[in-house]
Amino acid sequence: MGDSLKGRAALVTGSTSGIGLAMARALAGEGCSVMLNGLGDPGECEKIRADLAAETGAEIGYHPADMSKPAEIRDAVAKTVEAFGGLNILVNNAGIQHVAPIDAFPEEKWDAIIAINLSAAFHAIKAALPHLRKAGWGRIVNTASAHGLVASVNKSAYVAAKHGIMGLTKATAIETAEEPITCNAINPGWVRTPLVEAQIRARAEEKGVSVEDEAIALLSEKQPSKKFTTPEQLAGILLFLCSPAADQITGVPMVADGGWTSQ
Ligand code: NAD
Repeated sequence: MGDSLKGRAALVTGSTSGIGLAMARALAGEGCSVMLNGLGDPGECEKIRADLAAETGAEIGYHPADMSKPAEIRDAVAKTVEAFGGLNILVNNAGIQHVAPIDAFPEEKWDAIIAINLSAAFHAIKAALPHLRKAGWGRIVNTASAHGLVASVNKSAYVAAKHGIMGLTKATAIETAEEPITCNAINPGWVRTPLVEAQIRARAEEKGVSVEDEAIALLSEKQPSKKFTTPEQLAGILLFLCSPAADQITGVPMVADGGWTSQ
């Protein structure tokens, strides 16, 4: 990356765990100031912040915004600008999952998934755009999913939200196309984070098989490579999207799914 991210400022939502934390680590490793965000015990979040600052030497902040609350999302953007003197990179990554057939899908889970996995990105992009424009260089990256391109059974809210974020990615890309701002999606297949571990454990328990056997079964069903995508690989794609080589890439899915959506 050379020095191209040194002195830039980023907000990564849902970055106290999994993919978001790897993305924050990669940006900080390039000398970018990073505002972390995510739910969790305040002491644990502070430890994640302090560890990342010590590990990378970058300026690291933490904002506790709940991504289902638009006013808190706006505050996270404002506090990032206040802390770092501007904003260049917005990664909309926070996400949750709930698995159930439509006729048994709890309404409150639908509302929460649409709010956190889709509407939060709209609120964050709306609040961030004036700052990206002011800075004269901006990157918006939305963590979508293979489920932004194809469906799976019993994941109606997640699939709807992830397809929605693909639409929002394209709409943002064409509204900013003439500016030094791009907006893209990263579409992972299975990544073994706490979000997926919960699904593996639930399925293993239901079938009465071991967690490791069920992890292999999960991969075999969908991901032809039969390997999990790693958070570090996704962080690498984020860095690429922030590099000059990606200046003309906007509005597209960067798919890292081991062949899932090629079938
Ligand atoms: P994770 O559970 O490890 O991390 C999710 C993060 O989002 C955590 O930091 C959590 O605190 C945060 N979060 C959840 N609800 C929030 C809220 N209301 N407000 C603020 N933060 C909140 O999960 P992950 O697998 O790293 O998921 C990150 C993103 O990647 C999600 O958008 C997910 O849909 C997407 N994704 C994951 C996979 C996978 O296989 N793990 C595949 C495709 C896409």
